[in-house]
Amino acid sequence: MTIRILDQATVNQIAAGEVVERPASVVKELVENAIDAGARSIRIEITSNGEIKTIRVTDNGSGMAHADALLAFTPHATSKIATVDDLRHIHTLGFRGEALASIAAVSRVTLVTRQAGAATGTKVVIESGELREHSVTGTPEGTGILVEDLFSNTPARKKFQKNRNTELAQIHAVMEGICLANPEIAFRLFHNQHELLVTDRTADILDTIARIFGSYVARELVPVNASLPFMTVSGWISRPSRVRKDNARMFVSVNQRFVSSSLVNNAVREGYGTLLAKDRFPVTFLRLAINPEMVDVNVHPAKKLVRLANEKEIAGAVRDAVKEGLLAHDLIPAAGAPPYREKSLPAGPDPDPGSLYSDAAPAPSGVCEPNHAGTATTDRQLRQTELVTGTRPVNPLVPFMDVIGQIGGIYIIASTRDGELLLIDQHAAHERILYEIVTRRSESERTSQELLVPIVVQRTPREAVQLRELVPRLAREGLVLEEFGRNSFLVRGIPAALGKPEETTVIRDIIDDLVGEAWSRGTGERERITRIIACRGAIKAGTVCTAEQAQRLVSQLRLTENPFTCPHGRPTMIRFTRADLDGMFKRT
Ligand code: ADP
Ligand code: MG
Repeated sequence: MTIRILDQATVNQIAAGEVVERPASVVKELVENAIDAGARSIRIEITSNGEIKTIRVTDNGSGMAHADALLAFTPHATSKIATVDDLRHIHTLGFRGEALASIAAVSRVTLVTRQAGAATGTKVVIESGELREHSVTGTPEGTGILVEDLFSNTPARKKFQKNRNTELAQIHAVMEGICLANPEIAFRLFHNQHELLVTDRTADILDTIARIFGSYVARELVPVNASLPFMTVSGWISRPSRVRKDNARMFVSVNQRFVSSSLVNNAVREGYGTLLAKDRFPVTFLRLAINPEMVDVNVHPAKKLVRLANEKEIAGAVRDAVKEGLLAHDLIPAAGAPPYREKSLPAGPDPDPGSLYSDAAPAPSGVCEPNHAGTATTDRQLRQTELVTGTRPVNPLVPFMDVIGQIGGIYIIASTRDGELLLIDQHAAHERILYEIVTRRSESERTSQELLVPIVVQRTPREAVQLRELVPRLAREGLVLEEFGRNSFLVRGIPAALGKPEETTVIRDIIDDLVGEAWSRGTGERERITRIIACRGAIKAGTVCTAEQAQRLVSQLRLTENPFTCPHGRPTMIRFTRADLDGMFKRT
């Protein structure tokens, strides 16, 4: 297809805005052009001293005819769409015909290009938008574009350029996204002749992930797949034990376009559910292939966002795929696992630690303080609050465990038939069990047990207002409150899942949590109430368990749907394999 200038009506329909605001956007536009040209291999070379000096992108794509090479720098000149109608089903990354014109306006651009089969190629030099040179030249098939003196004629933009390392980090980030969205293309990114990023052509995105982040990261991922009539989702997501404190490693592409999509990211986090603490983010690499008619890419000047039709269906499919993908795997974290560290940059610039490589996340800050939660539970009460054996299948991903003992009143030690050692956090495990009892209870089941002697709770006026609003909601979870004079309430019934507590502190603790804790955003009201009940009802860390109690607890854990974390996302158990133990004793 040859290049044409879009008519004004079409131009008016295009999301306008700054296309090239920094070096990274130049790299992005040039690389996207190379991808659109069908390149199988793309090379990006950056040079810098104090600032970015030159950007060169070389591809082995279709190349351009002589006339097209000249026309390509005109505003709104594109070969990718012709009419307004075409905007509704875009199959290419570019479509506005603005990038080359915008880049050429603020730099000096040298283009060399040759079409497959053509005897000669073309060279074009443009400076600040003015044509300086065009000639016939010999050059390999494909296109090479060199950008120099970027922003030298726009002092304002030049001044706002951050330091070189920040710009390199941006370029690196843009390239990571593009590489992950296009595993079937080989990319090589160089800075001052040093290799920064290399991927090979592959049909399997896992190879690309391993190449960029290291094979250790790739090994810690589980696959995700889903399909709808108009869409397929595929990719890899991290085990819940490998999470981060930001969402910088949640990669999404839609039809080979790297995008940022809060729709998809939120759906992914929903899929993790309670496997993820509320302030933690998984590492995800998801590719969505969607019928182009249902994707509007014409909504953002840098095309970082897309609008999707059928958002609800898409989000639902992603959420379910993530959930299924996770629960199909044994997610017990291994004790021997090194901390989650990404491969660092090879020789080259100093990496910018803030924006590029953030380390493993520290312990999640759930609402539940690991050491001060839960209630001292008696044997009788433990028996009253069990998942009923027989009504639930045993989770095949959790091995049978023989309890050996307990340490510090906190951890249960168990062994498996395969000679593995498991440490179980008794509070987290019990919390998970209670949580599933509460959430799995069917509507018809008895939720509440009446207290023979109601408990009176007195709160401050502000707390009383909060509590009053919660009364109907709490009743549905079995916590029956009745107003009783000024700022006082009578607790008449408590959730059946709590059994018959020997002391009233557990009820008072639950109410403290209900009025005390700030609403955790992103968690529904029912979810929050359920977690509080599970946490406060659970056996406290520091409670000494008999071997028999501990055995019952771990057996119960095997009946849960998600045995791997407590409802706030902390692990319930950690595994030492035989190999881990042998390694520690230097038996290998
Ligand atoms: P757009 O990508 O939106 O069409 P650009 O300004 O980025 O606009 O590019 C203008 C045109 O130049 C493209 O439509 C394409 O025909 C041609 N072009 C740009 N880069 C390349 C390349 N690397 N290989 C072949 N053709 C290219
Ligand atoms: Mg383009």
